[in-house]
Amino acid sequence: MTNEYEVIIIGGGPAGLSAGLYTSRARLKSLLIERGVVGGQIADAELVENYPGFAEGISGLELGQLMQQQAAKYGLNTITAEVTGLELKGEKKVVKTTKGKFTARALIIASGSERSKLGIPGEEEFSGKGVSYCATCDGPFFKEKPVAVVGGGDVAITEALHLVKFASRVKMIHRRDQLRATRILQEKATAEPKIEFFWNSLAEKIEGEDVVKRLNLVNVVTGEKSTLDVGGVFVAVGFKPNTDYLKDFLPLGKAGFIITNEKMETKIPGVFAAGDVRLNSAQQAITAAGDGATAAIFAEKFLSG
Ligand code: NAP
Repeated sequence: MTNEYEVIIIGGGPAGLSAGLYTSRARLKSLLIERGVVGGQIADAELVENYPGFAEGISGLELGQLMQQQAAKYGLNTITAEVTGLELKGEKKVVKTTKGKFTARALIIASGSERSKLGIPGEEEFSGKGVSYCATCDGPFFKEKPVAVVGGGDVAITEALHLVKFASRVKMIHRRDQLRATRILQEKATAEPKIEFFWNSLAEKIEGEDVVKRLNLVNVVTGEKSTLDVGGVFVAVGFKPNTDYLKDFLPLGKAGFIITNEKMETKIPGVFAAGDVRLNSAQQAITAAGDGATAAIFAEKFLSG
């Protein structure tokens, strides 16, 4: 396999796959490097209802696969590998991976983000033993058991609505008395009899034996402590960017997200970033796809300039 490309894309979610579609259609020799499943986070979504063009919704896995097939049709090469190092100073950017070294004059970083942790006692100890970050993946393990979902955003509510299919009861733990989630999801959740809300509540500790048995809460208004008997704790408290591998090579912004301008350019010429890895991204599949297209268009201009 040749190791020289015109564009290298890191990450195979909607941002990276859209970037690859555009660079390949621009007849730029393009390589996409993905460490896991193509589709990225969206691949975990049972049903994506807000991606335009799919009026009845589409499974996230299928959406990712369709994006890849479409880009591959125009010549995008995809490999499964982990990026281990970078050289970004010269005209040729070098990307070192577990499958070898690749070079290109333009690089599009679309490595996305992953779930934030709560950082409370018991979370790590019971991870995979009742503590989960993906209801679509793990929901069926909690048949007829009470579970807790921590968080008040779109993801927490989406997870809770999925879990009612399996769990006997879904206890939503939110640190304020108002949800952050969009109105349509709030309406669905409040209409769901199996979902019970615990407002102004912080998760303090997860306890169990071999598996999770209890979640300890503290009410932030009254200071009152309580314990919920639950078989699982689903954590949905936002995301952190997948940029640890970049920190020695690229200046990063708040919380490790990448700062770009409206052309998706980073501070290093020829290096672009797209999707959830960017600071202040809207964190939607559709906006990530838009970012990817924008990055590809300006990468093409950079290469021809
Ligand atoms: P989010 O909107 O940032 O919400 C995170 C929630 O977790 C907030 O309610 C926040 O509380 C709470 N939280 C944060 N840190 C916490 C902590 N340490 N302890 C307890 N609670 C904590 O994140 P998200 O729900 O993961 O969604 C991220 C983005 O992805 C959003 O833009 C969302 O629209 C998008 N997304 C949407 C969908 C969908 O439409 N179905 C699916 C996937 C992703 P506060 O409200 O008090 O800050």
